[in-house]
Amino acid sequence: MARTLFIKTYGCQMNVYDSARMADVLAPLGYGPVEAADEADLVILNTCHIREKAAEKVFSELGRLKALKDARARQGRPLFLAVGGCVAQAEGEEILARAPQVDLVFGPQTYHRLPEMVAKLERGQGRLLDTDFPPEPKFDHLPAQGAQGPSAFLAIQEGCDKFCTYCVVPYTRGAEYARPAQVILDEARRLVDQGAREITLLGQNVNAWQAEGWSLARLLDALAEIEGLERLRYTTSHPGAMSDDLIGAHRDNPKLMPFLHLPVQSGSDAILRAMNRGHDADDYRRLVDRLRAVRPDLALSSDFIVGFPGESEADFQASLDLIASVGFAQSFSFKYSPRPGTPAAQLPHPVPEAVKAQRLDRLQALIDSQARAHLESCVGCVLPVLLDRPGRHPGQLAGRGPTMQPVHLAAPPSLFGQVVAVRIRESHANSLAGELAA
Ligand code: SF4
Repeated sequence: MARTLFIKTYGCQMNVYDSARMADVLAPLGYGPVEAADEADLVILNTCHIREKAAEKVFSELGRLKALKDARARQGRPLFLAVGGCVAQAEGEEILARAPQVDLVFGPQTYHRLPEMVAKLERGQGRLLDTDFPPEPKFDHLPAQGAQGPSAFLAIQEGCDKFCTYCVVPYTRGAEYARPAQVILDEARRLVDQGAREITLLGQNVNAWQAEGWSLARLLDALAEIEGLERLRYTTSHPGAMSDDLIGAHRDNPKLMPFLHLPVQSGSDAILRAMNRGHDADDYRRLVDRLRAVRPDLALSSDFIVGFPGESEADFQASLDLIASVGFAQSFSFKYSPRPGTPAAQLPHPVPEAVKAQRLDRLQALIDSQARAHLESCVGCVLPVLLDRPGRHPGQLAGRGPTMQPVHLAAPPSLFGQVVAVRIRESHANSLAGELAA
C-alpha cells in the first residue's frame, strides 16, 4: 500500500547521507518521500547532538508534531513519529519519557532495521527503542543506493576513535568502521551508472580509512579509474591522519579536487591539548605547508570552536593568528557547547556566554573576509563547474567549482550534469556569477 515519508535532517553531511539511506530501506514497504510532515504517514527526525541548541530544537519540533499527530488521529489517519540520529542514540530513553507522541527511537547504527520496526508500529506494537551498536555493520544490510544526481555522497567510514574531549561522535556513532574497498568501488560504479560525475567520500574521520591493506590514497586512485567519474572529494579529515601517500595523492590524482576540509578547532596549543586533538598549531601549519608544496592551488576549509573552557584572550588571539597565517577559502565557527558525557563538560573555567559571542563575531568576521577574498580572486578566471542544480533564475543552472565555489550562470538544461568551462564575471557575498566560456 502506498504510504508517505517525511524525513527532517539536522546536522552533518553524514546525517544527510543516512536520511537518503533511510528512504532507500523504507521504499520497499511502499513509503515514498513527501516534502512536508503534514502530508506524511511516517515522520522521521534525523537528529544532531553536536551542540545543545541542536538537541533542544528536536524537542520543540516534537512539540509541533504532537499537534499534527493529534489532529490526524481525530481524522482517523494515524501519523507515526520516529526520532533517529545522534540525539536518539544519546538520549533515547529521555525522548520516550519527555515526548509520549514519539512511537520509535533508533540510533545511527540501527536504521537498517527500520522495515521490521515500522512493520511493528503498523501492527500496533507500540513504542519502540533500538539504539544498539549491533555486531553486524548496517552497511551490509542496506539496499543499493538510490540515484543522487551528478554530485553523490558515499560513506566509506563511520565512527571515531579520536575522543576529542568536546565531541559526542565516538559515543553516538561508535568505534571507527571502514567499509571494504571492493564494496565501495562497486557502489561508486553504480552511482556513476546513475549519473554521478562527482563523488564525495564521507566519514567522521574519513582519512583514517584503511581496509584490507588499502590506504585512502590507493582507494582514490582506483576510483579515479572509473570511466565517467570526473571528480573526487573526501570529508571530514583529521590533521593527525594525513599520511604521506594521501598528501601525494593531491599532486598525482588528476580527479582529486584541490580542496580539503581540515578542521583545526583552535590555534592555541594549550586549548588543542585540552581538546585532545593530538597535534599543536605548528604541526597544523607544517601540514598545510606540505600540502601546498605538492598542490599550490589547494584551498582549505576548517572548523573553529571559540570559548572552550579555560580559553584566555591570548588563546583566542592564537586562533586568529593561525587563521590569518594559513588563509582559508571557507570555514565554520561555533561557540563551545558542553555536551553531556564528554570529558570537556567537566572542565573548570567556563567562558562567559557574552565573551563567547563576542569572540565568535570577531573570528567569523575574519573567516568571512578570507572567504570573500577567495571568491574575488576567481573573477576573470575560467573555472570547470559541475552543473548539478537549478540556478536562482529561470534559464540558469548552478554548480560548484574545483574549490567548492558556488557558481550561477545562464545555461541550457541540456548541460545539466556536465562539467563545463565558465568564465567568472562577478563575485558576490557567497557565490560567483559567470557565463559559458567559448
Ligand atoms: S575527530 Fe572529529 S568526530 Fe572524532 S572525536 Fe574528534 S571532533 Fe569528534
